[in-house]
Amino acid sequence: AQQDVPPYAAMLNAPQREAVLTTDGPVLMLAGAGTGKTAALTARLAHLVAMRLAWPSEILCVTFTNKAAREMRERVGRHIGDAVEGMPWLGTFHSIGAKMLRRHAELVGLQSNYTIIDTDDQLRLLKQMIRDKDIDEKRWPPRQLAGLIDRWKNRGLNPPDLGEVENESYANGLGQEMYTAYQDRLKALNACDFGDLLLHMLNILRREPEVLKQYQKRFKYILVDEYQDTNQVQYLWLRLLAQERKNICVVGDDDQSIYSWRGAEVANILKFEKDFPGAKVVKLEQNYRSTKPILAAASGLIDANSQRLGKELWTEQEGGDKLRVIGVWDAPEEARRVGEEIERLEREGASLDEIAILVRAQYQTREFEDRFIQIGLNYRIIGGFRFYERAEIRDALAYLRVIAQPQDDLAFERIYNQPKRGLGAKTLEKMHQHARATGLPLAAASLQLADSDELPKRAANTIGGLMRQFLHWRELSEQMSPAELLRTVMDENGYNEMLEKEKSADSAGRQENISELARAMEEYPTLGDFLEHVSLVMENDRANEGEKVTIMTMHAAKGLEFDNVFLPGWEEGVFPSQRAIDEGGLASLEEERRLAYVAITRAKRKCTILHAANRRIYGQWTSSIPSRFVDDLPDEHYDAETTMSGGASLWRANWSESDDPFAHVSAARPDKSSARGPGWQRALATGYETKQPRIAESRRSAASFAAKPRSDVAVG
Ligand code: ATP
Ligand code: MG
Repeated sequence: AQQDVPPYAAMLNAPQREAVLTTDGPVLMLAGAGTGKTAALTARLAHLVAMRLAWPSEILCVTFTNKAAREMRERVGRHIGDAVEGMPWLGTFHSIGAKMLRRHAELVGLQSNYTIIDTDDQLRLLKQMIRDKDIDEKRWPPRQLAGLIDRWKNRGLNPPDLGEVENESYANGLGQEMYTAYQDRLKALNACDFGDLLLHMLNILRREPEVLKQYQKRFKYILVDEYQDTNQVQYLWLRLLAQERKNICVVGDDDQSIYSWRGAEVANILKFEKDFPGAKVVKLEQNYRSTKPILAAASGLIDANSQRLGKELWTEQEGGDKLRVIGVWDAPEEARRVGEEIERLEREGASLDEIAILVRAQYQTREFEDRFIQIGLNYRIIGGFRFYERAEIRDALAYLRVIAQPQDDLAFERIYNQPKRGLGAKTLEKMHQHARATGLPLAAASLQLADSDELPKRAANTIGGLMRQFLHWRELSEQMSPAELLRTVMDENGYNEMLEKEKSADSAGRQENISELARAMEEYPTLGDFLEHVSLVMENDRANEGEKVTIMTMHAAKGLEFDNVFLPGWEEGVFPSQRAIDEGGLASLEEERRLAYVAITRAKRKCTILHAANRRIYGQWTSSIPSRFVDDLPDEHYDAETTMSGGASLWRANWSESDDPFAHVSAARPDKSSARGPGWQRALATGYETKQPRIAESRRSAASFAAKPRSDVAVG
């Protein structure tokens, strides 16, 4: 209505407008989910440029993800047009840090064309160093050191800054020495890791007053989204840069602080007013995203936390569906149920792009992927690999592929030295040469080579041993179910042991992924069936057009919104995670509850929570109880349903349809062995035998069938 309001501020409410128009001095916007913090921050950016308070290149604007940066750029572009092109300092902390560091690399002993190494490179480097130092790498694995170094960098600590405790935390007092050596190695390689992008720049800003002054002058305005999840090094960075002009606007929500495990400190937002005295504090209480029941449920839930500032949220939106909390029998039923609900939403006209499934742990995605492939529902996985693309899954599949088809050279090449067996590039080259010369598949050629004297004895023995193992596994594949086979192989090949010893942050998750793979295989009578299924899943990846359901972790969903949100796996041990429960501390459980709050508040219209009565965790069937977070929801804002009563008939009905594991077994299965070439025939002569894939007779044995708890229901 007001004519003097610029378009980018037109839709904003009074406090939002205040945050936009208060351009001088520090501003803190501390407000709950969906209250328009990001919207206000975006408008502020547009305002600064439109009013010529700063050139686009004079604004530093930090978002949490690259996606958020793109969206902000797009939205601002709508208001200020091409001016948005010249906005180099809009991005994540890491992208901005990398850009700055290019300009000043020489100040930390790098050249401006330095490379940024990824985790794999990092681990390889650390491993070398650990070996050189004669440290027992089984006791002190590279991943552990990588994690420590990362943590130190997040805290802004250089090697000399490490105290006694940090130093002792690796290899009985070698922390500092290894950290120093690692930084030196990186320098020699003209490289830096992710943590360095921030730490190097912090060092420069601290040590080079000229450079600091230059940036303090350049950045007339600083804007930061999701401030509650900044870590120490990011915080120190911002404080230095903003110290001169103090035109810094940060927005965040203490209830959405979910990255403390990566060094984020919610205290940063709580002490903003101390760091920047006289800060204007803007509170937003009107939520524009969600319906009343969703908002009330989320507010009721987060109320159970003791460590919070406490905020009231309200919405003008009338009506809206209550949340649904659905209890199902097991994980496959959970995926089936979500699939059905999504199909119903589609019939009602919903766009798949407006539907999200938010999980606590990556391994949960597999069940949904398989189900959606089966019913032909398009989906995308954001942040993290699709299940079958993860490194450990690809490794496991490669073993299975070599067992099923010894001529699968690519698979063999992937795992001949994984876990590490001390076979190097030279050995591989020899194997390739021999394979080319004889026309044999790589595996068979390697076996021959192992018997010859062309390889050093140690390598020959190792390869010979590995090939004998493959023969043994091929025999087992005749006797065992595919899932049992996988478990045996991963035990016998040393892979499980490798993961166990890693003790890294994600090694438990990777073990869990492998267990999940075994679980997936239980539905397939033969290895061939399963591998075929996997190829189809992988293929589906490439068909990339059209609307899609989004599957992602709750962590990755921060700041996003969807009309319809599904939250599966709300069971004790899944969510809250077993780790949070075991730690037992208030802090970790309250962080899990904040995550639940983030998850529910992603929903604009409908939110469906699911929990299963049985789930396989670490290969074991466990009966699970609904998450304590379900109890936290105010009764009047959700409807509970369960499919458990009458579960038997329901289950049986579904079983006879699409989940019959035997339905996959086609009588007219082509015999793949006939496609083998003459090279293979020769391989036979070396004793590396081929066997027919097992066919329909290998229906799951009665025994393994009865081991499944749901068969009880079917009978009962
Ligand atoms: P989160 O804490 O989840 O990051 P947020 O506070 O950043 O949430 P936004 O994403 O900015 O919230 O806004 C939530 C929704 O409300 C968006 O769809 C946005 O377009 C809309 N919105 C924001 N402000 C207003 C307003 N004043 N009037 C109408 N709609 C608004
Ligand atoms: Mg936001």
